[in-house]
Amino acid sequence: MAADPSPRLAATAAATRHWRLLASLAIVVYLVGSHWPRLRFPEVAGGPSSDKIVHFFSFLILTTLVWRARWFTRLWSLFAAGLAFAAFDEFTQAILPIERFFNLDDLVGDFAGLCAALAVIHGTAPLTSPPRGVARLRQGASALLAARLMNWAQLAVAAALGAAVGVPLAVMGAGAARIDPLVMGLIGGGVGAAAGGFLALELGVRARIRTLREHRGCPACGAASAPVGRACACCGEPLEATIWAVPDRIRFAGVVAASAVPLAIAALGLGLAVAVLPRLPGLAFAIESLEPITRMAVLAGGVVVAGGLALRSIRARLQQRSSGGRVADASDTRDGGLASVAAPSASSPREVVER
Ligand SMILES: [Zn+2]
Repeated sequence: MAADPSPRLAATAAATRHWRLLASLAIVVYLVGSHWPRLRFPEVAGGPSSDKIVHFFSFLILTTLVWRARWFTRLWSLFAAGLAFAAFDEFTQAILPIERFFNLDDLVGDFAGLCAALAVIHGTAPLTSPPRGVARLRQGASALLAARLMNWAQLAVAAALGAAVGVPLAVMGAGAARIDPLVMGLIGGGVGAAAGGFLALELGVRARIRTLREHRGCPACGAASAPVGRACACCGEPLEATIWAVPDRIRFAGVVAASAVPLAIAALGLGLAVAVLPRLPGLAFAIESLEPITRMAVLAGGVVVAGGLALRSIRARLQQRSSGGRVADASDTRDGGLASVAAPSASSPREVVER
């Protein structure tokens, strides 16, 4: 322990470093692709170029990665940076002699993907800042996972498997969607890789949450644990028993009750936007001038934004309904979850983090 004075910083810093590496790589790949001379996506049968879907998914993924990389701590600054990046991308396409051109539809596709990513981040983010209870445990588990390169290898394998499933499925569906097989394959690969990576990430985080609960592990450094209610002996992180509390099992009826109003408002808002916006003078012309595929991307973005806002509201309502969670050991709850709990004797301090 003495040799490693700050494992808390070490785990978080390593995790952030790895996310930054991945986000940087994704940005470089995107910029190379968007400035590749004369690159054209094939046209939708009887229609215009279909790369707005690629723009939408690219910005969805890029924005998510950049948020994970912690270059931005506020959503509005991430939003502004995303807009600036999209504008920069189109501007350099326009001025460089690479036979790529400024395209408003591309920008709109970027914008829709950016908004969708921000809505997902907002909808799934911890409800309190700094995160408390289960959210704190989840954040710690995620950092512990991302701090080890071996785990990234597993995520990469899962992403590759997802792409291997997504590409053939999308190519098979290309005929029905009347979109070029190459574009569909690209989209299928991207979506499959993102889904596979996300699934593996979520399973890994959940496994670590289980381990941390089992060993009363410190969510900051993974050490199994110091006396609860004081600081972690390994890294100094304050530890309350509520961190390890198992959330109440939510009844289906409760979920329905908490979801009804937010979902109704989201559906109403979306319906109103679809009905009214295209009729507004000025905006109507702009919308008409967009390619059909771009309008699809905008609609997809709108659905995700409404869904993200609804998700946030549903989670807040569910949290209000729950009693704050069950603490595994009855002795913990007597003084509001701050009682001391002896560390499991069989666990070495580094055990949890090594798993
Ligand atoms: Zn610790």
